[in-house]
Amino acid sequence: MNSFSGLPNRRQSLTGHTEDGDEIWIIRSISQKFYRCQGCYDSIEVGDEHVVVQYIGRIGGTEHSHWHRRCAEEILFNQTRGLRTVQANESSRDKLQARGRRPSGKRRRPRN
Ligand SMILES: [Zn+2]
Repeated sequence: MNSFSGLPNRRQSLTGHTEDGDEIWIIRSISQKFYRCQGCYDSIEVGDEHVVVQYIGRIGGTEHSHWHRRCAEEILFNQTRGLRTVQANESSRDKLQARGRRPSGKRRRPRN
């Protein structure tokens, strides 16, 4: 078990880095169509609660995939460095797409 049991949920997402230094965002989602889980390659049916995993490359660009919650917990949580929680609105599609448009070296911390 890990301390992130039950996450992500509607209010909180998870983020961290891959071994290669890409950002990884793990976000709760309800499937609108049929997906294939990238952890076990079994199906995720319409309406299933699952997780979207969004990668943002160190040199820019984004890529996402759909995972069963259980598969994400068993496989991804252990591979992710510095895993931490963020508010779900930090992981909105718009914000992550924007992050992918510039290299990480040019990213600034948001001002509060
Ligand atoms: Zn799976």
